[in-house]
Amino acid sequence: MRKGKLLIVSGPSGTGKSTVLHALMEGRDDLCFSISATTRKAREGETDGVHYHFLTEETFRQWIAEGAFLEYAEYTGNFYGTPEKFVDEAAAAGRDVLLDIDVQGAEQVRRKRPDAVSVFLFPPSWAELERRLTGRGAGGAEQTRKRLLRAREELQSARSYQYFVINDKVENAVRELSAILTAEHCRTEERADHILRLSRDE
Ligand code: ADP
Ligand code: 5GP
Repeated sequence: MRKGKLLIVSGPSGTGKSTVLHALMEGRDDLCFSISATTRKAREGETDGVHYHFLTEETFRQWIAEGAFLEYAEYTGNFYGTPEKFVDEAAAAGRDVLLDIDVQGAEQVRRKRPDAVSVFLFPPSWAELERRLTGRGAGGAEQTRKRLLRAREELQSARSYQYFVINDKVENAVRELSAILTAEHCRTEERADHILRLSRDE
């Protein structure tokens, strides 16, 4: 049976990662979303256990001590981490797992899982990023300023990713991500068993 791929998607806050990944998953049961744990407060419309596992800092530290995270990082004053068990079980069951994580987390996953596929997502311009961040209206002006400053640093890491997708229209970004996953599953090493069977004339 095919093993699921880990698809890392990074990009500054407000880029549209959450929007694009949820659109990508629509109607597809071969894909699933890795729900991260975080110590940040839930935004309006966010549900515990759906968008994030919202934890206290004490519980987050406990999860770290228990070795529950594939990776974790601090981002503008809060902790974020990927629970490892879910990712491994889903991939073993043949589902591709989508990881919406920052550049520090992506670096850790690449080291631990060199076969993970990584994509940097970015809006068409800085002005559009600011518009999306402000439009979402979460965290106030100070958070927006911090996140825009952080975005400048994050873009420096874009070259460490295998793919760069521009989120102009959601449907275009979804089409490109879907194409990336399809291509990754067609890699020769992914088809090694099939080639072996054919070589044996089976
Ligand atoms: P992220 O998960 O990267 O922080 P979100 O998915 O929360 O970003 O998107 C940030 C804001 O930008 C949201 O208000 C969302 O509706 C909007 N958005 C996302 N993608 C697009 C797009 N392609 N065009 C216009 N607005 C978008
Ligand atoms: P937000 O607070 O806007 O939901 O997310 C802020 C940043 O944290 C985004 O760049 C997002 O990709 C990142 N993030 C979300 N979950 C995780 C995670 O589990 N690990 C890491 N390292 N970053 C995460």
